[in-house]
Amino acid sequence: MLPVIALVGRPNVGKSTLFNAMTRSRDALVADMPGVTRDRHYGVCRTGARPFVVVDTGGLSGVEEGLDALTAQQVRFAIEEAQVLVFVVDARDGLMPQDRHILDELRRSGKPIIAAVNKTDGLDEQNALAEFAGFGIAITLPLSAAHNRGTEDLIAAALPLL
Ligand code: GDP
Ligand code: MG
Repeated sequence: MLPVIALVGRPNVGKSTLFNAMTRSRDALVADMPGVTRDRHYGVCRTGARPFVVVDTGGLSGVEEGLDALTAQQVRFAIEEAQVLVFVVDARDGLMPQDRHILDELRRSGKPIIAAVNKTDGLDEQNALAEFAGFGIAITLPLSAAHNRGTEDLIAAALPLL
């Protein structure tokens, strides 16, 4: 069994784009509509020193349920399966209240967490990181999943934790 890394975060922060960059496939659905990924998607990342499974946690699977409940459900699935949790946040949106709720749930798992501050393209990287420094996550890395920048560093940071 390969070790598992889960990508977790609010809808539209770039989880599926990161999944694509890591797995170099078009398996994960990327769209401008938040919550378009209906299920979790699995792929194998083979670009690092050793292979691992990436789980792209989706957002919404039904319109009848509330956003918070569905997000929490996806986070719980990811926590169960993964050895390392990559917490993806959006540098353009900044720190949102829902980020805090997701992080609280991730922390309860006791599993290692890496914060990936995505969409830093065109932004001041240090400013973008500083906004999320209050999370107190030791490994907080800048990322531009859409431009495949920062993915190698993210993989290198995650591998020793697996
Ligand atoms: P998900 O809901 O978290 O899976 O987010 P997606 O991967 O579907 O991306 C949501 C939107 O953000 C899409 O329009 C992406 O093109 C865009 N996006 C993703 N990564 C980046 C990035 O690094 N920079 C910028 N500027 N946009 C991004
Ligand atoms: Mg998605």
